[in-house]
Amino acid sequence: MLIVMRHGANEEQIQNVIDTIKKKGRDAHVSKGDMHTVIGAVGANQIDPRDFELLDGVKEVLKISSSYKLVSRIFKPEDTVIDVNGEKFGGGYVGLIAGPCTVESEEQVEACAKKLSSYGVKIIRGGAFKPRTSPYAFQGLGEEGLKIIRRVADKYNMAVTSEVMEINQIPLFLKYVDILQVGARNMQNFNLLKELSHVNKPVMIKRGLSATIEEWLMAAEYILSGGNREVILCERGIRTFERATRNTLDLCSIPVVNKLSHLPIIIDPSHGTGLRDKVAPMSMASVAAGCDGLMIEVHDTPDCALCDGAQSLYPEQFKDLMEKLKKIAPVVDKKMSIAV
Ligand code: PEP
Ligand code: MN
Repeated sequence: MLIVMRHGANEEQIQNVIDTIKKKGRDAHVSKGDMHTVIGAVGANQIDPRDFELLDGVKEVLKISSSYKLVSRIFKPEDTVIDVNGEKFGGGYVGLIAGPCTVESEEQVEACAKKLSSYGVKIIRGGAFKPRTSPYAFQGLGEEGLKIIRRVADKYNMAVTSEVMEINQIPLFLKYVDILQVGARNMQNFNLLKELSHVNKPVMIKRGLSATIEEWLMAAEYILSGGNREVILCERGIRTFERATRNTLDLCSIPVVNKLSHLPIIIDPSHGTGLRDKVAPMSMASVAAGCDGLMIEVHDTPDCALCDGAQSLYPEQFKDLMEKLKKIAPVVDKKMSIAV
């Protein structure tokens, strides 16, 4: 249930509504917008809307029929803007994340970061704990990988995103990483999501391989319901009958999510297509469709990559692509901070 306060409702009236929600055994979540303060009453107990309609300062009480509440546009009409190291996602900004699939060595990350930072990239990606389909494939360097990417990122004033796979890895990630990535395979690892709802760093949730948009938004709801409001949704393609590309990149999710939720949605065209030559066209289509950011795999020597080389761009290809995206973004009223 959402309690919408009148324009100009005072703090005392807002607090009275919060106290009433708590007395009824529910959690109160407050969203202060430009026009109205909205208070979400979230929890299992049934409550009567009339108990709130008569309170001072209340404009109206809305029942939300969707299963997600805090991530919905009804609760918070304004875009959530996530700012990491000066790179913004949402609110008219298209943020960028680029880097190798996996941290392989200090030299490899260094070669990549040097070029990417010279193009103006402010956030580098790189997995240290890798969810691999085969137990025989390279599993990542673990903590050593996180140390490497942090060291190199600091040298080039970059922020870091990397995938956290288990609850017991969270303290390590808080030490080395700026955005904690939840991989597609873990999108419904509810225990992990609950723990991440208490961290004070942004969480990026990749869409599950066969997840509906509603299930994906519910995963985000887990993070917001525990108090962490900084969530980035990342579309990375879903599994369909199509075999020409690694996944089917569902770009329809951009306008759908933009309408349903205030959270930024970014696109990963690398995993979405699995093929280097498809990454540029799908990135351009994503920006044209109104995405709030992109995460793109880039490797200095993709032919030698230990993981996902075939879908990784050469640095020069990435630079060319950024130049094109910078021209497309203003056509759809978006800004890109990258300085290529
Ligand atoms: C990744 O981004 O490194 C990754 C493993 O992606 P996904 O979880 O989307 O497969
Ligand atoms: Mn990858």
